[in-house]
Amino acid sequence: MPIATPSSMKDTSASRPFSSATRAENLEWLAREHFDILIIGGGITGCAAARDAAMRGYRVALVEKEDFASGTSSRSSRLIHGGLRYLEHRQFGLVRESVVERARLLRNASRIVKPLSFVYPVYRRRYPRYAVLSIGLWLYDLMSIGGRRGLPRHRMLRADHLAEVEPLVAASHIAGAGYYYDATTDDARLTLLTAKAAHHAGAIVANYAQAVGLLKAGSRIAGAHVRDVSSGHDLEVKARVVVNAAGPWVDRVLGLDAPSERPVLRPTKGAHLVVPRARLPIRSAIAVRSPRDRRAMFLVPWSDFAIVGTTDTDYDGRPEDAVADRDDCAYLLESVRGLAPEVRLDEADVISTYAGVRPLIAVEGRRPSSVSREHAIVESKSGLITIAGGKLTTHRAMAEQLVDRVQDKLLRDSGIARRLACPTANAPLAASGDIALPDLPEKTAAYLVEAYGADVIEVVRIAGSTVGWTDPIVPGLPYLRAEAIYAAEHEMAVTLCDFLMRRTHILHEAQDGALLHAGALAADMGAILGWDDERMQREVAEYEKQVMLARAFR
Ligand code: FAD
Repeated sequence: MPIATPSSMKDTSASRPFSSATRAENLEWLAREHFDILIIGGGITGCAAARDAAMRGYRVALVEKEDFASGTSSRSSRLIHGGLRYLEHRQFGLVRESVVERARLLRNASRIVKPLSFVYPVYRRRYPRYAVLSIGLWLYDLMSIGGRRGLPRHRMLRADHLAEVEPLVAASHIAGAGYYYDATTDDARLTLLTAKAAHHAGAIVANYAQAVGLLKAGSRIAGAHVRDVSSGHDLEVKARVVVNAAGPWVDRVLGLDAPSERPVLRPTKGAHLVVPRARLPIRSAIAVRSPRDRRAMFLVPWSDFAIVGTTDTDYDGRPEDAVADRDDCAYLLESVRGLAPEVRLDEADVISTYAGVRPLIAVEGRRPSSVSREHAIVESKSGLITIAGGKLTTHRAMAEQLVDRVQDKLLRDSGIARRLACPTANAPLAASGDIALPDLPEKTAAYLVEAYGADVIEVVRIAGSTVGWTDPIVPGLPYLRAEAIYAAEHEMAVTLCDFLMRRTHILHEAQDGALLHAGALAADMGAILGWDDERMQREVAEYEKQVMLARAFR
């Protein structure tokens, strides 16, 4: 049997919208087809692998138990970075791979991956010294050669100059700062765009589809039992190779294969605070060291907000239960106050919080923050291929290595004679372009063009079709009611939370998560998705729960 996406499948996939209706059709395809590769997990790792394998021409299926990016991939610090601090741990390979991938993302996804300046303050009689940081940044630049992609070189700033560049960090005992560039992105949207690109390349993709068991032919894995979480209906998905890309859940999926296997992961929790930038007026991202334990963290500018994070503590709970608690919040606020005491940031300034679980590879005897961010690909005795660890920044390279490994297995076990080259290094994912939306306020237009690219025309068409849909959902935030419709029709949004937490960031950016508007939005989405009153109430109740969890520290 040829290993390539049959044109019927590819054409069907490419021409269908990435909608919740398509999801329902995809569940039928999943039960009917025999795939080359089934990927479990729709975070950035699984979606990138699905895109890569489908672009190479394989028949690919991807199942995600909740929403795309609902795991760690929507809970990062939103940095696309080489990882200056990994130089401290002499992880030169990781830094080099990261800066190369940073450059690729700045080129291939320029619409949503943007350069970001960083200020790294240094203080008298404290680590790192001015000269040490200067050498570190020089090395960082050196490692970025060929990978800087137009990012300016670093500069060292003396204290008086720093006061002009970043007034917030000026303090009497400051010696100066390093000023350098990395990049930032919307992690959830990057993941969604990658899932969408996988779909358009021919992959059969479904969210709210959980792998609840593994199919075996003798002792070899031959697919998975998958539950449609919306209906409770079970189906069997058959595949030559099954990939476990379940992030912090990889050990659980490994448990479906061989319950006695030793855990691969040492998960750690990372919490963030979202505060108004008016209260924390940063111009660049700022590296901060905790006064408590000297750990490094960042204040990251994000439109009208600043994201403060992150913590790094061992975590043995369920990944889905990870929230920022009181201690996390106190620790992060203390760090900000250490940097800028006069701002007097406190709990009342925090609009919301979020926490994610890092799927780090287990290494005995290391402190959480020194556990490597490198990834590993392992194959179980029954042939399940697991990928764990890594960073948002390196997802494309991870996917390339993963699909190469799967390809080796297909060559070995299925008698495939031909190797297919990885096409993603130079493939556009989210190209920027000049699109003018003169009828909308400037801020709204800029946001829409960045989020949707050329597809913004459809969002604007929807917005114009009904009175009130061009209105912002929450005054002061750029999000429009029309986007909820677009999310259901073109972004496979299946729940109200999908829209309010990942297609937009309303949950984290609006005071009280804009709960007041949840009912109206549920009605808008429900009209497309066929929700009855009871379902709408359930959607609002679930959103309310998430709003509370994001404010659990109170
Ligand atoms: P996930 O995103 O968790 O995806 C795994 C998916 O598998 C989940 O969506 C889950 O629902 C699904 N799943 C699980 N079990 C099943 C099943 N049985 N069936 C179907 N689906 C299943 N990296 C950076 O480069 N820059 C940063 O700034 C950065 N900041 C970070 C900050 C924090 C606090 C954390 C925690 C991580 C950060 N990272 C950062 C790392 C980066 O976010 C992660 O490496 C990356 O998101 C992991 O993606 P993933 O796809 O492997 O896992």
